Amino acid sequence: MAESQTSQLCSEHNGVDECQHAMICPCCGWVNPLPNLKSEQSASCGQCGYTLIQNHAQWPQRVLALSVACLCMFVASVSFSLIGFSAKGAVQTISLTDLVSVLFHQHYLALATIALLLLIILPLSFLIALSYLASSWVLQRRWPLTQSAAYWCSVVQPWLMVDVFVIALLVSLIKLHSLAAIELGYSFWAYCFFAVLFVKLLALFDHHLLWSYCSDVTGKCVTECANEHELSIKSCHLCGLSVEQDCGICPRCHQHFKPVQRSSLKSTLALLLAATLMYIPANYFPVMTTTFLGQAKESTIMGGVLLLWQMGSYPVALVILIASVFVPSAKILSLLWLCWQCRENDSCSVQMRQKLYLLTEFVGRWSMIDVFVVALLSALVQLGALMNVTPGPAVLPFASVVVLTMLAAKTFDPKLLWRTDLSKKEQVLE
Ligand SMILES: [Zn+2]
Ligand SMILES: [Zn+2]
Repeated sequence: MAESQTSQLCSEHNGVDECQHAMICPCCGWVNPLPNLKSEQSASCGQCGYTLIQNHAQWPQRVLALSVACLCMFVASVSFSLIGFSAKGAVQTISLTDLVSVLFHQHYLALATIALLLLIILPLSFLIALSYLASSWVLQRRWPLTQSAAYWCSVVQPWLMVDVFVIALLVSLIKLHSLAAIELGYSFWAYCFFAVLFVKLLALFDHHLLWSYCSDVTGKCVTECANEHELSIKSCHLCGLSVEQDCGICPRCHQHFKPVQRSSLKSTLALLLAATLMYIPANYFPVMTTTFLGQAKESTIMGGVLLLWQMGSYPVALVILIASVFVPSAKILSLLWLCWQCRENDSCSVQMRQKLYLLTEFVGRWSMIDVFVVALLSALVQLGALMNVTPGPAVLPFASVVVLTMLAAKTFDPKLLWRTDLSKKEQVLE
């Protein structure tokens, strides 16, 4: 296999000799003329250094092989028992589908719906859609509904939390270990293997390649590098196609264009306000109630961290502390600061602000660990007065904080940071 190589596309002072398809950086809005990339070569933005595209060798074949392998492992993950435990002669086991059905039967409808969506429907539909697309590319056939399948893959991809659930499984095992003897089912190993394959598949997943295989529509040709508004072109937020500034609907994915303007900050701020309001009950009320030999004990998120620390599970206590306490509050504060930076930028460089935004977007979904742990333990530990776990009133506000902050990060447009920086430079020159 050819060695991976990254080439930075033209920077501010270099031009290009011939007309090339424009690839507009989704982070800074810099127009990069895209040359033909060799196998395993990637291209990064000439202004901010963001990796725009990586040209993987035999991409459709690799995507097909991995998505079919993932589908097989997913079927194995739902077919057998996931984990089981025994305490005082009572034995209980649970499969992935039981987890959802037990929560539904116990009338924890919201938690059951979250588990059903994030653990079964979204990963399964993503894998089916991607296998369908990759099969059509490998067989070189234009099958119906490929555009809809590509749209679904693009929309669902940020909400896939297979790796987060594996960490939640490990945390649940450590929590259960102190109370009962644990048994790992076949599906536990199948799910771990599925998660490894799934992470590899997501590393290969590329919106630009996905849409370029789905449609023959190509982006605008350019001969120079500049900001998108200087060249009167813009890019589609979903498929990345570059088109004329006055174009209303993307000719490739048929989505309406979102304008890059400061008013979009209002949506981000509204979502952050809602997340801040939800953060209070999420931390004040108990997230889980554990009954052991008739004695009920409620624990908040912070209480759970302290309990794990007292049990000597220091790494797990730190993981929960970072994912459930530090990350949600840091996300709210950093997004608020970034919104402020779109109006008043201080001495901090625009590259640093962009790195903070990308980090905020990346870590968001990891806060779901605690929600999955509560769902798993509530479905598994059901032995009446002997031992019982029930979800507390803080679970839903906490899940809302995670979803709202993820949506806030999605609505925030990092191009605004560069626009503020540019207008500041223009003011200095004047
Ligand atoms: Zn850029
Ligand atoms: Zn598009």
